[in-house]
Amino acid sequence: MFDERTTCMVVVGAQWGDEGKGKLVDVLAERADFVVRYQGGANAGHTVVIGDTQFVLRQIPSGILHRSVTCVIGNGVVLEPENLFAELDQLHQRGIDTTGRLFVSDRAHLVLPYHKLLDAASERSQKLGTTGRGIGPAYEDKYGRRGIRVTDLRRVECAQSLLTERVDRANRLLAMMGSSERARYEDHVELLQRLAPRLLPLAADTGLMVHRAIRAGRRVLLEGAQGALLDVDHGTYPYVTSSNTTAGGAAVGAGIGPTAINGVLGVVKAYTTRVGNGPLPTEAASPFEERLRELGGEFGAVTGRPRRCGWFDATVVRYAARVNGLTGLAVTKLDVLDSFAEIPVGLAYRLDGESCEEIPAEVEALGRVHPIYESLPGWQQPTGAARRLADLPSAARAYLDRLEALSGVPVRYVSVGTRRDQIIEV
Ligand code: GDP
Repeated sequence: MFDERTTCMVVVGAQWGDEGKGKLVDVLAERADFVVRYQGGANAGHTVVIGDTQFVLRQIPSGILHRSVTCVIGNGVVLEPENLFAELDQLHQRGIDTTGRLFVSDRAHLVLPYHKLLDAASERSQKLGTTGRGIGPAYEDKYGRRGIRVTDLRRVECAQSLLTERVDRANRLLAMMGSSERARYEDHVELLQRLAPRLLPLAADTGLMVHRAIRAGRRVLLEGAQGALLDVDHGTYPYVTSSNTTAGGAAVGAGIGPTAINGVLGVVKAYTTRVGNGPLPTEAASPFEERLRELGGEFGAVTGRPRRCGWFDATVVRYAARVNGLTGLAVTKLDVLDSFAEIPVGLAYRLDGESCEEIPAEVEALGRVHPIYESLPGWQQPTGAARRLADLPSAARAYLDRLEALSGVPVRYVSVGTRRDQIIEV
């Protein structure tokens, strides 16, 4: 799918995140010149396994693990600089040289310690299940036009005067929220002074960089974080993230025009998971939920929180296909279903006795729907060694055909294990 005709492709999560985008991007990055993160922050947590080494990358695109790939953290990301440097140090310790291959948009906003204090205080009252990393408050500041951007570090005195006002404001809000915590101006100034010399050499007009790469016929992957149902506009509001995770956000957050994009790959698990609060219509009953969680290792990469698990929900994926304009589907974790005798698939919902084929706007209505299931036969054989569709048991192929028919998007990739080589290209 990522070929001569599709040179600028978006990879998005088409459920509630954690679909295995990191692995897909890692596989596709082999053919890429650029990999760009376009939204979110250090709450993403892609996990990539190479040989026996596991990398958890929160902000740096996983494409960095390929030596010929240039990685970009786009303007749509809110950047947590200390975490970025910790990730860079970790990569260097494992022999991955990133020199000249990682750039940060000078328009990206910074996540600062006061954002984390505000996040923790608001989570205590709002209970959205955020990761508490200050992402939401940093986006609030961005849209409130009081954010501090990477480019502001170029004039540290100017950033310091912005900080006086921002830290005061954060402390007033903390007091209003009943928190006893306070942000210290001196700590923030010291932080910016320490960060600037290391961050500024990475700062660039990355939109221009990506634009030029596309014009020169280079291959560009735009890597989304989270998933469609967590998009601030299209997700299960208010149980959503603070940015546009869907493909439209890729153009904005990478700083290119939408017409430059010529493919959108939606990544879905062969089942469904969700972290945090909010509805999950096809949530499996015990003991199936626990079995999916154990077999799939469904614990958050960043937080370690157990993920809620359920069956494939075709209503969700059809919706994600529409709001993203998906041109292909990557189905991951097929191997997790290897031992099940029967596998339910959610076809549509019933809501208050009526048939319901679309995701309702009101989160409480989605919480009340009853999924209509179809049960498909399991294959009860390991699939981890399959490298072509023909290697899969016929029941597994029938399962994939059904997901394709129900979601209306051709299946282009099937992942059958954590390792890089455990992938089928259709
Ligand atoms: P992402 O944020 O969408 O990249 O997802 P995560 O990295 O949070 O979660 C994906 C997890 O599933 C990681 O631990 C991957 O190693 C693992 N994974 C990805 N693809 C497969 C697969 O096909 N089978 C299995 N068993 N695990 C997979």
